[in-house]
Parts: sequence; structure tokens; C-alpha cells
Amino acid sequence: MTAQIIDGKAFAATVREKVAGHVARLKEEHGITPGLAVVLVGEDPASQVYVRSKGKQTVEVGMNSFEHKLAAETSEADLLALIDRLNNDPDVHGILVQLPLPKHLNEDLVINAIDPAKDVDGFHISNVGLLGTGQKAMVPCTPLGCLMMLRDHHGSLSGMDAVVIGRSNIVGKPMAQLLLGDSCTVTIAHSRTKDLAEVVRRADIVVAAVGRPQMVPGDWIKPGATVIDVGINRIDAPEKGDGKTRLVGDVDFDSAAEVAGAITPVPGGVGPMTIACLLANTVTACCRAHGLAEPE
Ligand code: NDP
Repeated sequence: MTAQIIDGKAFAATVREKVAGHVARLKEEHGITPGLAVVLVGEDPASQVYVRSKGKQTVEVGMNSFEHKLAAETSEADLLALIDRLNNDPDVHGILVQLPLPKHLNEDLVINAIDPAKDVDGFHISNVGLLGTGQKAMVPCTPLGCLMMLRDHHGSLSGMDAVVIGRSNIVGKPMAQLLLGDSCTVTIAHSRTKDLAEVVRRADIVVAAVGRPQMVPGDWIKPGATVIDVGINRIDAPEKGDGKTRLVGDVDFDSAAEVAGAITPVPGGVGPMTIACLLANTVTACCRAHGLAEPE
């Protein structure tokens, strides 16, 4: 293997440490404790795991965690009423509604009901617009984590060719905006892209956010490129025993690591950075709400 491994787990620990330092200062100097409210509707097992992990890490950095677990059949009116209460609660600086929502609830309507200043997921249409126009926004956590790792690895990204595979609102599109903001030349690829292999081969930076296990092989990667693998896919792992599974990314790690200059592993790459950025966004929202200097 030639690639340097970008250790998202270790990087996320340093981000959480910084967040904890800011939280301690907010408490000591201003008597303010940042608070994050997480709303979970229904019993999707993966969402339950994420919400538990978010709550635990929120408390570990010294912030208040408010968990609201609602029944799967909760009406839109009741959910909107809860969001309205949280919007008006001065102890709540960040609000996150765990997606996906049950089918009878309109996700766009619910997300856009969150006060944009408390929208720590950065999915509110106002934050999308602010990011797209290069203004101060709440930035979606997963792409923000990817950008932080890229900046940490490269310093400046200016002039680099970046290819983002995937055009979702939560990862692909905001990732492309962030890379553009850092003066990369950005290509967004998707399921209709012609000759994806050739497109990827041009890239100094590849961000894969597709949701297809090991779809990007090493021979698509330009030698020395930096590969950020956002995908989280569970596949069968017969080598671990009957019925066992393991997590893999959208990139074929083993072959890509032979060619890339640097690569994020799955697990232990982008995943841990996402929650760390959620905590950082909550501190940012808290500082903005109180007119205090924001952490860098
Ligand atoms: P979506 O399903 O919303 O989007 C997937 C994108 O991939 C779409 O734009 C789709 O194109 C594109 N795509 C699908 N098939 C192909 C193909 N064969 N070639 C090229 N592009 C293709 O997924 P998300 O953006 O929500 O998530 C992507 C992955 O990232 C998932 O594995 C998810 O689990 C993971 N993830 C990880 C997070 C983390 O914290 N690490 C957080 C969020 C997501 P089209 O638009 O044309 O359909």
C-alpha cells in the first residue's frame, strides 16, 4: 500500500477536544451552556444508533443534550409544534431532525420549519442558499468533515481538480459547493455521467458519496490523488463466519490505496467526523445566538 491513511477517528477526537474547550469557556466566561436538541420520529434501528451516539458525544463535550423521541405515527402538526417550541427555547442552540422521516411526514416542510440559525444540519433552504452564494451558513456536517480533512491534508486546495460522485442534497451538492468555495475546479458526477472512470481519472481529489459498495476501483484513481470515501455500506463477510457482515465504502479500499496519495478508510474516516462537525456547528450556532466570537 502506498497511500497515507487519513485517520478520521483521530481527527474527530481533536475536533471534539476543541469543541469541549469552547464549551468550557462559554460556561466559565458567559454562563452559557450550548444545547443540542435531536428529534427522532419512529424506530428505525440505524437512526436510533445515530441518535444515541449523538446524544452521548454531546454530553461528553459538556453540552446539554435534549432528546425527543416521537412515535412513528406522530402527526405533522405535532412534529411542527415541537419544532416551534424548540425554535423558541433559548436553551436550545441547535436542532436536528433525524432523517429519514416516516413516509407520511413531508421532510422538506419539517426541515424548513427549523429556525435557520439553529439548523445545525445545514439542510434548511436558507442555509443551502447562503452556502451557494458564499455567505456565512450552517454547513452540512458530512461535507464539512470531508473539507476539514482535505484542508488538513493539503493546506490549500486552490486550483485542484475535484470530482464529487453523487449529487444528493445532504452530501454531494454541498460538498461540491465547499470545494468550489476553496477554489477547486469541481465536477459533480452521478448515475447518468458518461464514462465515470475517465472523469474520476482526472481528479486530484475524489469524494465518493454514492451508496454502492466498493464501486470505485483503484484503476480509476489518478496516481497520488486524495480519496475521500463517504459511503457506508454493509456487505456479507463470510470470512468472519456465517451470517456475519462488515462495513465498506464506495471505494475499493485495497486497490485504491495502491494508487492514491491519501485515502480515508471505512469505517474510521468520514463517519466519525460527521458527529464531531455537528457538535462544532452547535457551538457556532450558540456563539452566533449570543453575539460572541465564533470558533475558527
Ligand atoms: P443518495 O442515495 O441520496 O445519493 C446517491 C448519489 O449517488 C446520487 O446522486 C446518485 O445519482 C449517485 N449514484 C448512484 N449510482 C451511481 C452510479 N452507478 N454512478 C454514479 N453515481 C451514482 O445518497 P447520500 O448522498 O445520502 O449518501 C451516499 C453514501 O454516503 C451512502 O453510502 C450513505 O450511507 C453515506 N453517508 C455517509 C455519511 C457519513 O456520516 N459518513 C453521512 C451521509 C451519507 P442520481 O442522482 O443520478 O440518482
